[in-house]
This record gives sequence, C-alpha cells and structure tokens, in this order.
Amino acid sequence: HQGEQSMTEILSSYVAGSWHTPAATESARPVRDAGTGELLHSVSSAGVDFAAVADHARTTGIAELQKLTFHQRGVILKKLATYLMERTKDYHEISFTTGTTKRDAFVDIEGGIGTLFTYSGVARRQMPNSTVHLDGGVERLSKNGTFVGRHILTSRQGLALQINAFNFPVWGMLEKFGPMFVAGVPVVVKPATDTAHLTRAVVADMIESGLLPAGAIQLVCGDVTPLFDDLAEQDAIAFTGSAHTARTLSALDCVTQRGTRFFAEADSLNFSLLGPDAAPGTEEFDLFVSGVVAEMTVKAGQKCTAIRRTFVPEAHAEAVGEAIIAKLATQGVGDPREKSTRLGPVVSDKQRTDVLDAVDQIIAGGAHLLTGGREESDKLAAEHGGAYVAATVLQADDAWSDAVHDIEAFGPVTSIITYPDTEDAVRLAARGRGSLVGSVVTHDREFATEFVRKIAPWHGRVLVLDRADAAESTGHGSPLPNLVHGGPGRAGGGEEMGGLRGITHFMQRTAIQASPDMLTAIGGEWVNGSERRLGDHPFTKSLKDLRLGDTLDSEWREVTLDDIEHFANFTGDTFYAHMNEEAAAANPFFPGRVAHGYLIVSFAAGLFVQPDPGPVLANYGLEGLNFITPVSPGDKLKVTLTAKRITPRETDEYGEVRWDAQVVNQNEEPVANYDVLTLVAKEY
Ligand code: NDP
Repeated sequence: HQGEQSMTEILSSYVAGSWHTPAATESARPVRDAGTGELLHSVSSAGVDFAAVADHARTTGIAELQKLTFHQRGVILKKLATYLMERTKDYHEISFTTGTTKRDAFVDIEGGIGTLFTYSGVARRQMPNSTVHLDGGVERLSKNGTFVGRHILTSRQGLALQINAFNFPVWGMLEKFGPMFVAGVPVVVKPATDTAHLTRAVVADMIESGLLPAGAIQLVCGDVTPLFDDLAEQDAIAFTGSAHTARTLSALDCVTQRGTRFFAEADSLNFSLLGPDAAPGTEEFDLFVSGVVAEMTVKAGQKCTAIRRTFVPEAHAEAVGEAIIAKLATQGVGDPREKSTRLGPVVSDKQRTDVLDAVDQIIAGGAHLLTGGREESDKLAAEHGGAYVAATVLQADDAWSDAVHDIEAFGPVTSIITYPDTEDAVRLAARGRGSLVGSVVTHDREFATEFVRKIAPWHGRVLVLDRADAAESTGHGSPLPNLVHGGPGRAGGGEEMGGLRGITHFMQRTAIQASPDMLTAIGGEWVNGSERRLGDHPFTKSLKDLRLGDTLDSEWREVTLDDIEHFANFTGDTFYAHMNEEAAAANPFFPGRVAHGYLIVSFAAGLFVQPDPGPVLANYGLEGLNFITPVSPGDKLKVTLTAKRITPRETDEYGEVRWDAQVVNQNEEPVANYDVLTLVAKEY
C-alpha cells in the first residue's frame, strides 16, 4: 500500500549547513493530505545535533551576516523574493495537500514573498548602509556640549528561533525571516508538523538560490525541544500558535532564567462590528456580510485574524444572520483543487475534531446554531472524504456569556453577538481580553471615532471599513508588512512586522554617552559639536572622497529691505510681517519687518552652492527646518554646511548625502537649522 511505504519517508531538515534525513522512527508523526486523507510522509527531528545547530548559527551565521550592511541584506532579500516568485507554481501544488484553495494559498505564498520585497525596501530606504542603526536624535547631556548621548541598535549575537503555526507555512516563515535577516540574526525555522513540507520546499529553494550567506537559515522539521537548552540571553524565540503553547514556552528556563527574548502571536477572538448606522440596504451592511463570509471561508477560517465574534445591533441581528447564510450558500465547498471551491477542508482530522469540539462547547456555553455544526460537517466529510467542516454560524443566547468570547473554534466558524449601544459594544469587544484585530463597518464618523478610540487598547490593529475605502481595502484578515501585527493580552502581547519596528525586535538598543567626536565615529553620523574639516568645497567631492565632517564655511551676505520687498513681490508672499512695519512690530515674535524664512533658505543656498558641474546631482529635499532668530533688514547671514550622513546606494552609481546646515547672523545667533538632502555621484 502506497501509504505504508511513505511511512518510511521522513522530511529532511537543513542543519549546520547540510540536509539531514532522520532514520525511520516510531515517534515520527505521519502527515496526510487534508482533502483525501492519503498519507504523505512523516515528520521527525530524530538525530538532529541541536548543539551544532546553535553553534553554526552563532559562529558561521553571525560572522557572515555581519559582513553585510543593512542595504546589502536588503538587496539580497529582493533577489531572493524574485527567485522565489518564479517558483510559486511548485508551492501551490504542495499547498493543495494542506487543504487550501488557490485563493487561500495566494495569501500564504505570494503574500509571504511580498513581505520580503517590503523588507528589502525598509532596509534600503529607512536604514543606513551600515551595520549600526541610529535610533532617535542626539541628546545634549552637558552645558558645554562636550558630553552627548544617543541610542544605537546593533544585531544581537544570538539566533532567532521561529516556531510557526500550521496555517501559514510560507507567509508565517517569511514575514519573520525578512526582519530577522535585515536585523542580522541567523534564523532557525521550526514549521508546524502538518504543513512543514510546504515550508521545507520554500526553504530548500532559499538555500538552493545561493543568495543567502552560510548559517543565515536552518530548518528543523519536528520537535525542537532540545534546542531550548542551548538558548540564552542573546537569542530570541518568535512563536505563532495557540495561547496554550505560548504559555508553555514563555515558562521555559531559557526565557525565565537565561533571558532569551520571547515573542508570541497567539490565537485571539477577533471581532467585526456592524455600526448602528449600517442598516440592511446600506453599502456598509453588504460590506460587513461579505467580510464575515470571506473570513469564514478563506483558509477555512484557520486564520489567527479571522472573525470569531460578529457584533451586530440588536435590531439587525436577524437580517445579518439571514444575509450571512444566504452568502455562504453561494460558496462552493469541496476539493481545494477545483477552481469553484471557496471553502476547502481544514488541515487535518485532528484539527477538524478540535473545531467541532469547540463548536459544541460554545453551544453548551449559551449559543445556538444558525447553520453548520457537527451534523452538517459529518455529511460533508462523508461526501468528500477529507477533513471538512461545514461553515458554521452560531448566535449567542446571551451576549455576555463567556463561551463566545473565550473559546476559539479555529475553523470556518463565527458567533453572532448583539449589542444594545456603543458603551456595551466597547465592553463586549474587550471581552476578547486582547485581540489581533477588530474591524468596524460604519459610515458614521462620530461613532467610529468614539468606538475606535475606546477599543484600541485591546487591539493590535483596527480596520474601519466603509464605502470610501472598501474598493481598495485589504480587508479584515490581512496583516500588512508595514503595519504592526500582534495584539495585547490573549493575542500574545507581541508585535511582528510594522516596518522598521519588526527589525528592531532582533537588535539591541544601547544608549551611548560620549564626546561628540566619539559619537560621530561610533554612530557613523556627524554630530553637532564634533570636528569640522575645512578644505576644498565639499560639493566638489564625490562619495569616494567625501568624509563625515567635511565642511563649507560660507561668506557673509547682508539682507536689505530691498531684498525683502523684491522677494515678496517676486513670490507673492506679501505677509504683513515682511511688508508692514507697524503690524509686524505689533506681533510678539518680531521686532519689526523681517526677512521671509524662505528668503533665508534661498540666500543660504546661494551662499553654499558650488555652481560648476560636479558630483552633486540633485537636491531632493530639506528636513527639520527651524527658523530661530528673526532676520531684520541690515542683518548679515552666513551658512555652515557639513557632511552629516553619507549613504552610498548598493545598486546605483550614486548615493545620498545629508548635510547639516546652520545659518547664523552677525552676532553668531542661530537663524535657521536644517538638513539638506542631496544625491552625489560615487565617482566624478
Ligand atoms: P500549537 O500551538 O499547538 O503549535 C504551534 C507551533 O508550536 C507548531 O510549530 C508546533 O509544532 C509548536 N509546538 C507545539 N508545542 C510545542 C512545544 N511544547 N515546544 C515547542 N514547540 C511546540 O498550534 P497548532 O498549530 O497546532 O494549532 C492549534 C491551535 O492554535 C489552533 O487550533 C488555533 O486555536 C491556534 N492557532 C493560532 C494561530 C495564530 O496565528 N495565532 C495559528 C494557528 C493556530 P508541531 O506542529 O510540531 O506540534
């Protein structure tokens, strides 16, 4: 029998730089096709040398990653994403065996690879081309400015262990890998057993691509328990899965005794709420119903962000129930490989049992079935021969009973819960004790403002959906790489992604206190008060020759009343502070008529510019512009321009140079401070 033969096939793991296939063992866990029940293979980590895994990550992995700057890691991620995108057909084929339809798998596979593109952008646009990231500005710590401080972020010298849930075998791995890789920490992936073969296929391609440095990624299929003994203060565990397992792992010795960082993203009872204004017949009513049905059917409801609690105003409960049932009836159920299928099986028979048990518990706790449930699910399973659960809508008999707020049926299941008013809606939302996401479907701005502000502390993400954003909205269930994913309380208390935030979780923030010169050297950005080097005009230097601290001290220029009037008439900015002596003098900030701020900035450009063709290619902005001392007719101005940050681009022939610009008057009083942003050629 084919199934019995494949019992001997055990998924291999990629550890310490090579593939390891465990010998057949009794403890290996069999994995079956979710739709057909056919035995696929078994999973075991028997024989994996976990001390070698930790050692390989910490020695080879860290050393190789540290040779790369954030930008270089970003470039690799982009190439890697392109490489994987060319191979998605294979992943989709495998994904069918996990019960997912093509639509479901798209979220996991293409969605997962998409996070790598995003993280490539974050690394290259929001981080320096270096291995040290600056966090916030410089703090002046002393009267004379010889003692200053700022925070830097460096890669932690440990490994990041991902423990992932079964429901997003690709996305779950990549949305963590992207930030971890940019942060410069070696990754050990432990996929959930039921879908490890899909994760494995992608990891195998990542390794095969040859793009990743040695030690950057390892994969352990099966139990990773022995690895916990090797984890210590520089390591991190990023877990996704059940709240129960999260609690077990958070109590591990490595976490409680040895300081391993533990991040959890656990199941939560997310809600979607129909606003009081969204009566049947409104666009919002239809959007709400579509959203609930989509979250029940996509991935057969096996999404950490799915809508478990459907809040509706008492008056509309019946209409909502009927509309959801009518819409569910249009969703094809069956073989995930069929194009018409919208609801496939859940991942395994065990998961099916868990979901139906949870449904029974919710009913016992005070709810009744509107559609679906055990009997209908049994009929479906008998008809299709796989782990099918019928789309199940429950209605809470009492909105305040615990079961609907506590018990998560991790499948195509939702409970309708009615609310009488805004205050109770807020209290009911909070009964989830912390969720990943809540959505409110309303076109009433006042209601949305009050409700969202009050429920925000219990949620990691809130979607406000109405006719204005519906067409472009990514929906209730989709976490986005530039926004935070994670939630307080029951949802695990962790945060993933969120753009740069997701990277910094795996780095150490350190406050550096030093002299300005030391801080310039350590942070890689020129700090006010540190050495300025005068010499050739810095605009004549290409990136090859330009150094931090290279400075231009300009000539003086007087500002006359004629200049001010000329500028006012030329630009049309005839604001009274520049044109009317009496009115200007009555203003508490001005001694009388003063120069326009933009005139000061324009004169400063005239003072610092080097007009000849040279390595400076473009000025693409100013940042942090502050006008400090007003400039009266007859005052003199001078500008000091200093190379503050130099960021060569990996894939272009130029880079960015940020210049510190300080304009002073004849009394050396500060007039304006800002950063000038330019593009400068690498060579000229
Ligand atoms: P689990 O919490 O059981 O498993 C999640 C991951 O943790 C898997 O990789 C699992 O490995 C691993 N794991 C389990 N126990 C341990 C342990 N003691 N030490 C180390 N690793 C461990 O969740 P499941 O994936 O089995 O799903 C069960 C329930 O979790 C669902 O019904 C749902 O309620 C919830 N869930 C929540 C998700 C979310 O995103 N928030 C996602 C998926 C599920 P292995 O598979 O090898 O056991």
